[in-house]
Amino acid sequence: MTLPFRADMHCHSTASDGHLTPKELVDKAIDLKLNGLAITDHDTLSGALEALPYAMEKKLPFLVGVEFSTLFKEQSIHVLAYSFDMSHPQIDELQDRQIKRRFERNHEILKLLAIKNMPISYEEILERHSEADSIIGRPHIALLMIEKGYVRDIQEAFQKYLGDGKSCFVPSPAPSTAETIEIIHRAKGKAILAHPHLIKKKRLYNELLKLPFDGLETYYAAMTKGQNMPFEKAAKERNWIMTGGSDFHGIGGYPLSLGSSWTNEETFTSLLQLFIKNNELPRTVS
Ligand code: AMP
Ligand code: ZN
Ligand code: FE
Ligand code: FE
Repeated sequence: MTLPFRADMHCHSTASDGHLTPKELVDKAIDLKLNGLAITDHDTLSGALEALPYAMEKKLPFLVGVEFSTLFKEQSIHVLAYSFDMSHPQIDELQDRQIKRRFERNHEILKLLAIKNMPISYEEILERHSEADSIIGRPHIALLMIEKGYVRDIQEAFQKYLGDGKSCFVPSPAPSTAETIEIIHRAKGKAILAHPHLIKKKRLYNELLKLPFDGLETYYAAMTKGQNMPFEKAAKERNWIMTGGSDFHGIGGYPLSLGSSWTNEETFTSLLQLFIKNNELPRTVS
């Protein structure tokens, strides 16, 4: 039996809150016989950039992606970006803004935890997460809370302290969803609304669909049977592309395995060709 074409277009490396290095992700994709991969770390290209030459060497069709944190009507919305010009100055600037905002926010969270007798120093986080340009977020703080015995697991850390609106939550002025889409477009890339099934407020979702996205992440293994149908319909009505990916993180709050959701051949190939064109890469990447 021939397997269908499977390109996993959503996963995280150690450059953000994933547990495998960028190269380990490439190796795992090859082991799983995936036909393509995109690494989409939170707010940074650095892991994907590290993986690109390795994937080319191993002949795995590979796309540099990113999952930007954005705000839409005060709600956190994740936007996946693909195929953009990687050297576009506004993509650099967007990453810098995200790193700065996270740095300030993480310090505020640590202050609140200290008040609650759960001291953690920023240095302790860096010791365990020392890669240059890497993104530090709430999951890294949660892991240290477990290590220090303040909570039993990630769920408890988020439910009691770090989750949105909880006692040590600090809101953070992420760039708006509209502005992020605009920057991705200026860099000639495609902007995809990530995991739309997690947007519980119907009105918010309907408002989001009015933004100039290029596609919806329609295939996500955690969606229940049939849950992707309205997203397929919405994408088709708008002539948007439909992507899929596992959102693989390794261990932690995300049990989904690499390759458990995927993008089809036509969509992956067209995004890959655009990526090659916008970055003047050798055709061997595909
Ligand atoms: P941040 O980007 O620092 O705001 O942290 C958000 C990230 O925390 C998300 O992308 C998830 O990876 C993770 N996260 C959010 N809520 C939970 C939860 N309840 N359990 C585990 N991880 C979570
Ligand atoms: Zn994550
Ligand atoms: Fe996400
Ligand atoms: Fe993700």
